Amino acid sequence: MNYQLTELQQEIRDVARRIAEEKIKPVRAQYDENGNFPWDIVKVCADADLFAVFLPEAYGGLGGGIMELVVATEELSRACGGIALCLAASALGTIPIVLFGTDEQKQKYLPDLAAGKKLAAFALTEPAAGSDASAIQTTATKDGDHYVLNGLKQWITNGGEAETYVVITMTDKSKGARGASALLVEKGMDGFDFGKKEDKMGIRGSTTRELIFRDCRVPKENLLGREGMGFMVAMRTFDMSRPGVASQALGIAQGALDEAVNYARQREQFGHPIISFQGLQFKIAEMAMRVEAARALIYAVARSIDAGDTKCAKESAMTKTFASDVAMYVTTEAVQVLGGYGYMKEYPVEKMMRDAKITQIYEGTNEIQRSVIATNLIKEYASHKQPAAKVR
Ligand SMILES: Cc1cc2nc3c(=O)[nH]c(=O)nc-3n(C[C@H](O)[C@H](O)[C@H](O)COP(=O)(O)OP(=O)(O)OC[C@H]3O[C@@H](n4cnc5c(N)ncnc54)[C@H](O)[C@@H]3O)c2cc1C
Repeated sequence: MNYQLTELQQEIRDVARRIAEEKIKPVRAQYDENGNFPWDIVKVCADADLFAVFLPEAYGGLGGGIMELVVATEELSRACGGIALCLAASALGTIPIVLFGTDEQKQKYLPDLAAGKKLAAFALTEPAAGSDASAIQTTATKDGDHYVLNGLKQWITNGGEAETYVVITMTDKSKGARGASALLVEKGMDGFDFGKKEDKMGIRGSTTRELIFRDCRVPKENLLGREGMGFMVAMRTFDMSRPGVASQALGIAQGALDEAVNYARQREQFGHPIISFQGLQFKIAEMAMRVEAARALIYAVARSIDAGDTKCAKESAMTKTFASDVAMYVTTEAVQVLGGYGYMKEYPVEKMMRDAKITQIYEGTNEIQRSVIATNLIKEYASHKQPAAKVR
């Protein structure tokens, strides 16, 4: 389908596709096996300006937006959803600076992030605060010109590898959700350490790690937005970043569809290529339909965000939920198309199936996303004030 990509978007797609084919595919199994962080690919993406695609030109970016980010993430994820996450997770940690940073903060942080010289990360989750983000216990207490940060963040993507962290913390517990604030914390600050590195089911080319704060002194000019705005920073960020997770899921699904079709054209049983069997054709058609529907939704929402739509929580949640369910469906079906070979590590689809699973869980589980969608729908319908129509 022709999505009428701009020249810049086509260029980003082509560059990312070439990196995926030439650089990521040959090493994806190795990173999946050893769980190391793919610094060599980060360097390649940085040299190709992929970290810059969604950032303003004034801060070293290419001047694109969420659409450019989803195009790049989709193409990289087509080869490996784990390795692609080094870019998407850095974007997650960078978006709040774009949205809420002062000009000084933007000047200080964005050029290095755009150049891929430094990576960013976003830290909200804690051991007892997952879906219920308002239960976070990490505190930041004012002390003169500093905040003193104490607590532990869990499962932070790019943890330990990133230099710049946006940390959501409580500055006034008595105010509940209105007492949270977002702080920019730098690797190397006194009292900031890294804890356990997770051994995961999938996306093993991405690092997931604990952040530990023990009396970590953060200058007060590192506050993002104002005190009390922490959850607003988080929610507005997710509204813009969820199409990115969706595009990671889309890329994984497209990659699995590619593998399934190519395999089915070559594999013969009963004296015929298995793709000639209608039972498999229906399966492949279903996979392709869902992939295209996910792409159409993601691109439409990304374009709407770039056109200035700030009330996009519902649509953004829809992209992530729909595309991640598609990724899980398509990768599982791809394993089925490859039969026993699909279950073997020799073929990439078993890894794709493991990689797909996380997209239904992080940046808000799909259960929570469906609640977000329903809550927004209910509000919209309530504002129409139309009574339910009776048949008679
Ligand atoms: C690999 C990985 C990387 C991650 N990266 C980051 C990161 O970079 N930054 C960050 O801050 N966090 C990160 N996370 C955390 C992630 O966002 C959380 O895991 C996610 O939000 C869910 O929280 P939880 O795991 O504690 O599940 P829980 O909240 O404990 O949920 C458990 C189950 O209960 C369901 N549930 C909970 N509440 C409800 C409800 N009200 N209605 C219906 N169902 C409900 C959930 O949907 C889920 O199925 C990462 C997680 C993983 C696994």
